[in-house]
Formats: sequence, structure tokens, C-alpha cells
Amino acid sequence: MAMKDYEFWFVVGSQFLYGPEVLDIIDERAREMADKLNASGKLPCKIVYKVTAKTPEEITNVVKEANYTDKCAGIITWCHTFSPSKMWINGFALLQKPYCHFATQYNREIPNEEIDMDFMNLNQAAHGDREHGFIAARLRMPRKVIAGYWQDEDVQERLGSWMRAAVGAAFSKNLKVMRFGDNMRNVAVTEGDKVGVQEKLGWQVNTWPVGTLVEYINEVSDEEVSSMMSEYNEKYEMNTDNLDAVRYQAKEELGIKRMLDDEGCKAFTNTFEDLYGMEQLPGLATQRLMEKGYGYGGEGDWKVSAMTAVLKAISEGQTGGTAFMEDYTYHLVKGSEYSLGAHMLEVCPSVAAEKPKIEVHPLGIGGKSDPARLVFEGHPGDAIVVSLVDMGGRLRLIVQDIECVKPIMPMPNLPVARVMWKAMPNLTTGVECWIMAGGAHHTVLSYDVTAEQMEDWAAMMDIEYVHITKDTTVSTLKNDLFLADLAWKLK
Ligand code: MN
Repeated sequence: MAMKDYEFWFVVGSQFLYGPEVLDIIDERAREMADKLNASGKLPCKIVYKVTAKTPEEITNVVKEANYTDKCAGIITWCHTFSPSKMWINGFALLQKPYCHFATQYNREIPNEEIDMDFMNLNQAAHGDREHGFIAARLRMPRKVIAGYWQDEDVQERLGSWMRAAVGAAFSKNLKVMRFGDNMRNVAVTEGDKVGVQEKLGWQVNTWPVGTLVEYINEVSDEEVSSMMSEYNEKYEMNTDNLDAVRYQAKEELGIKRMLDDEGCKAFTNTFEDLYGMEQLPGLATQRLMEKGYGYGGEGDWKVSAMTAVLKAISEGQTGGTAFMEDYTYHLVKGSEYSLGAHMLEVCPSVAAEKPKIEVHPLGIGGKSDPARLVFEGHPGDAIVVSLVDMGGRLRLIVQDIECVKPIMPMPNLPVARVMWKAMPNLTTGVECWIMAGGAHHTVLSYDVTAEQMEDWAAMMDIEYVHITKDTTVSTLKNDLFLADLAWKLK
């Protein structure tokens, strides 16, 4: 399902105490709020007003329906009036969808002349939402609380941003990852408990023979390759005479895509150690598939592949870019300290500053023919890097804030795409924090997805979240990691 196909259900809490007239007004206003929020253009998905709930049965029924409705990606609650929260316990205990408590109120201002006890009876979100918030705290529910006036753009944007994270959760629950070959020999951080991950995140991670993929690649026709070549010529600068190498990547792109689609997979991995029957390591092919929204991880890294797909789902329709990334090398000149990220070949062109160039160069490892790849620089801008690691018995999601810059030198002999950034709080402290947390060399880099969205997503998936920001110090982080270790053992 695409982002626009999902909906979020608006459930308003109340009770019978106020009489039918008040309840009619609430119903009318809740409908108006949903309509205006939908018309605001700030929400990526539709909000559907479902009910002003007055009884435990109404709440339980709407939760059951939400759980079993695939297009419902979450519920949003609000209490226009007071809604005694014991009414919510049975429903909330069943809830399996992401939950946002929208602490707003219908009117913006306290009306000086008009305010009397009738007004107070109808407009009591300030205490209704507190009773409502208590029960979610008491039940230890994963939730988002967004407070603010519902017609304010920044409030609508926060709601929209949370919706995207919730769509990421729905996407995650249905994600299938296709593995070609195993993980690179002896590498630790790309390993993980696939059964545990499927239970927590929903990912179905399975392997298929490279030989089957080779059959798919070999079945691609010359006509299909030629039409793909025209597309390449249109979108990229052809900076090579070795068109046969480029044509082979077109075959790989079409073959991989067809096999992924046949199996319903939205992410894949491969490894240069297992390319039996293939002429080139897929470079351009993989870059193109990521640009289309498929997740990818090199060296068998299925966790980063799935995370790339999840972040691409969260940021669907946005234009900043999201890419599989790897920290390669540092520039350690005082006052001008940067990380240089790249990969052997496979960086997604969605992050490119300018039209990428197709080039063909030898690859030092893997023992295959020279692969075609897209070469470009990443664009400047604030971004995050994300790593999911398996700590043994639980997953830890690590997010670091970064500022991407135009690479400070041209590096004319570097034959791959590159992104340069300043990590927060600064390069060396940032590296110390990242290493202390166990963050991988592979990451997902995104200009679109925010750290707050990843925090929301981690809460929805019930996994540990670590955020390295401009304010993080090594000693506070160490303490946080130590406490989290204890907390997650008890959980
Ligand atoms: Mn790698």
C-alpha cells in the first residue's frame, strides 16, 4: 500500500453525563476537525473521524476494528470533554496499532465575555486529556503525545510526521527481505536473530539461490535492455565507452526487480563473495533499485537493507533522499573534521546534488568484470544516520544527527558516489559515542526522515532507541546505555 492509501482513525472520548445536546456538538466539531485537518495539506494520510465514545463497548469495538483493518495505520484520540479512563482499559489492552494522543482543543482562545459554566461543561480538554493520559501511562502503552492547537501548521506537521512513522511500522510488519548468499564471512555486526527480528519488527528474511537470480538476469531481452539504456541516457550522464558493461547492469536491474516483485520482496542483500554465474557485482543496478524504493544492504547486511526500505517508506514522496551508506574515512584536520561516506558501488542516487555520471571502473575485490556504477556527490543539508544492531536478546536502534556538506575536495580518482558530513556533537566525540553504542559501519542516511520519527518508530516496534545529538556527551551516553541494558533485561 502507498502512503496515501493508509488512514488514521480519530476517536474522541466523552461520556453520557453531559446530555445529548453537548454530545451532538462534539460529534459535529470532531467531524469538522477531521475535515479541516484533511484539507490542510499537511497530513500524508487521511484522518477518519470514527466515533465520540461514551461507553467501554464503543471503545473496545473501534479498537478491534482498527486492529483488523489493514488500511488503518493508527488511532488518534482526544477528549473534548471528560472521559473517565477506566472505560478505556479493555480497549487499550487490545490495541495493536500505533497510538497518538492529540492533546488539543476546539477553540483557540478563552472567550472573555462568553465564558460561563455552559462553556466550561463543553470545553474541558485541559482536564479531560489529563485523565485520558493517565490511563495510557498506567498501562505503559507505547504512544505519542502531541499538544497544540489543531489549526496551527506546526502542530499539523507534527501529526503528519508521526503518521509517516506509523506507516513505517505498518510497512515493517509486512516487509519481506530477499537474501542472495549469506553475510560476508566473519563479519559480526551484520549478523542477527532473524526469528527475534520477525517477532519484533515483522520482517521475513529469507534466502534464495544466486543461480535463480542468474536465470532471471539471463532471461532479460535485448529490447528491454535497450529501452533501459535510453532511460539511463536521459537521467544520467554516460561517462564511459564501455556500453556493454552498462547493458549488463541493465539486465541485472531488470532481473533483480522481477525476482523481488515475483516474491513480494521490498528489500534485498547480496555479497561480493557469492556472485556465482554473474558477470558483475550489481552497482548501477542496485543504485537504481534503491532509487525506486527497494532496500539494499551490502555484504549480506539484511538489517540495513530492511532499514533502508523502512526509511524509504516513511519518506515516500519526499525529495531530500535516503541511502544505504558506509562510513569510509575521516578528514582529521583541526577545525575542518569530516566523515567521508561511500560504498564499494551502492549509494542511492536520491541523495545526489547533481546529475549522476555512469562510469565503469575495475573493482579490486570479488574477481568479476568491471562494474558500471553511478558516481556523484551528496548534497548539503541536515540529515541523520541510522543503525540497527542486535545486542543479543534485543535490538538497539542508534540515530546520529549529522550535517552534510559539499565535499571539501573533488577527489577525482575516487570512482564511487560520496557524501561528506559533520557528525554531532563533533567528529571525534560523535565517533566515540557511536562506537560506544555499538553502531555499525553500515547505516541508512536520510535527509527526509527525522530523529523524532525514528524515536516514534522505535517506540511503536518496542525496541531500544539511542540518539546522539549536538548535546550528547560520552559519559552521559555511557550511563544511559548501562541503564538501558538493565531496563531491557527486566522488560
Ligand atoms: Mn559495506
